[in-house]
Amino acid sequence: MIAKPTPPRRPRWRSLALLALCLAPLLWPLHHLAERYYQEELASQNRQTLDLYVANLLGTLHRYETLPQILGDLPALRGVLADPLRLEAVTNANRLLKDIVQKTGAEVMYLMDVSGNTLAASNWDKRDSFVGRNFAFRPYFNEAMAGRLGRFFGQGTTSAKRGYFFAAAVRDRERIVGVLVVKVDLDHTETLWGRTPEQLLLTDHNGVVILTSRPDWRFRATRALTEAERQAIIAIQPYPTQAPQPLVLNQDAWISQTRDIKETGWQVSILAPRMLVDRSVQTVMAIGAGTLLVLMLLAGLVMQRRRHYIDRIDFEARGRQELENRVAERTADLEGLNTRLKSAVLERENAQQEAVRAQDELVQAGKLSVLGTMSASISHELNQPLAAIRSYAENAEILLDHQRTEDARGNLKLIGELTGRMASIIAHLRAFARRDRHAPESVALQPALDDALALLAKRRRAMAVELIRDLPEATLWVQAGETRLRQVLGNLLANALDALTEKANPRRLWLSAEQRDGCVYLYIRDNGPGFSRQALEHAKEPFFTTKTRTQGLGLGLAICESLMRALGGELLLANHPEGGALLTLQLRVAAPGATLPNSEDPSA
Ligand code: ADP
Repeated sequence: MIAKPTPPRRPRWRSLALLALCLAPLLWPLHHLAERYYQEELASQNRQTLDLYVANLLGTLHRYETLPQILGDLPALRGVLADPLRLEAVTNANRLLKDIVQKTGAEVMYLMDVSGNTLAASNWDKRDSFVGRNFAFRPYFNEAMAGRLGRFFGQGTTSAKRGYFFAAAVRDRERIVGVLVVKVDLDHTETLWGRTPEQLLLTDHNGVVILTSRPDWRFRATRALTEAERQAIIAIQPYPTQAPQPLVLNQDAWISQTRDIKETGWQVSILAPRMLVDRSVQTVMAIGAGTLLVLMLLAGLVMQRRRHYIDRIDFEARGRQELENRVAERTADLEGLNTRLKSAVLERENAQQEAVRAQDELVQAGKLSVLGTMSASISHELNQPLAAIRSYAENAEILLDHQRTEDARGNLKLIGELTGRMASIIAHLRAFARRDRHAPESVALQPALDDALALLAKRRRAMAVELIRDLPEATLWVQAGETRLRQVLGNLLANALDALTEKANPRRLWLSAEQRDGCVYLYIRDNGPGFSRQALEHAKEPFFTTKTRTQGLGLGLAICESLMRALGGELLLANHPEGGALLTLQLRVAAPGATLPNSEDPSA
């Protein structure tokens, strides 16, 4: 029996998981690389933004940097410083400043005397006019009075607008007579910042946020302030508050990039949410993990395929082995059977040879037995006529001595008859012993029957046997030999006449025939005594006779039987229900043929 296929094993998910665990560390470098890449990307982007912003800011400031010095040379302004109480001069100065402000885009310009009092201002006609106000507490005033360019950031105490102040001294020859201040609006530089996730942070020299895209970070200190700084803040009031609150930023949440602006002592920073990088890295990691998963699945699939393939090859190999075993077993069985058959055949052949030998011996014994019986009969049959012939011959001699030639002739005639009888006995014996080798031919039945009847006609008439013929008009053609058929018919008719001799008149002989099933049946019936039971059983055996030795040899029916078999026909013996014998001759139907001259040797 072929071994059952083992069910295909499931892929080893556990080993796959193990593989995944081993491969997972590969994701760390990927994470690191992705993080670095995106951080650098972001940094380069932010650097550009920062450069742009700084350039913009510095550009704005530079535009106004030299303005106070230039304006300080204007005669209209100097006139005010020379005579502050002259209303016309003040009005002219105010108008001039306002005009310049409108043309340059500065927020405000004003002129102070050496005490810090504002004499003229571009916003002279506004509600929050600087005219009459004193800004001596601002550092830019002191700077300018010291002959340097005053720079200062601060929220306007009046306007509450953040601005950058440039201040320069106005000189009359070498003497400082006043200070001209230009305030640049910085609020708008903050609004330039779009609504991006990145945040802007601009801190001054105190580390306090002065410009930012996040209003809640404004004016908060990014580092701890020193006592001196705190005092200075209170003194010069650059911020709306006198004690800036600390700005606490979660360093992990932001990626910052900072640039110093030397001219102003500020620092500009861009704070990008770390989330931006994290999100991209997460995407990369997801793709990486997905790829890894797909690779693992593919590996699993390949492993499964490979295992299936190995299993199948294994199964086929086992099947083949099984088949080979079976074939070998079968071959061994067959060889055993063959040997047994050979020995059986040998035994059978030996037995057959034994049987043939035994049969030969039997036949030989039978032949000897028949020969014995036959030789007894023959010698008996032939001795009688021989004795008669001798006595007739001796008698004839005596008769001839006495000149009784007529009587002697009679004796000679009797001798002739006796020799005829002896010849007949010998002829019968030859017929019995002969093996007919002639092929059957087409023979017409009725003419053969007529011939046989003609030979017995004299005897029949003498016995007054009535012949009742019931034969078809059409010729019945049978497979036979002309002479052999006549011999058979003659024998049977002679037997019928023999039987009828034992009966008183009326003696009858019926002849009828029919053709059916490819055979011709000839019925010969007499109303004699019929067959005795013993005769029915043994009549066909050679030398069986119920007649006296002179009448019968017991060879007639035996010869008829043998001839009929040779012709492929049959002889059946029976008694008619109404008494008498009924003999049936069964012969094969033959194709109609010409009634040829007898081809068989009549002497045979
Ligand atoms: P035989 O005629 O020399 O006796 P057969 O072989 O011809 O030898 O016949 C054998 C026996 O069959 C006969 O002795 C006879 O008893 C029986 N027999 C044959 N024909 C008839 C017949 N028509 N009626 C009765 N008995 C017959």
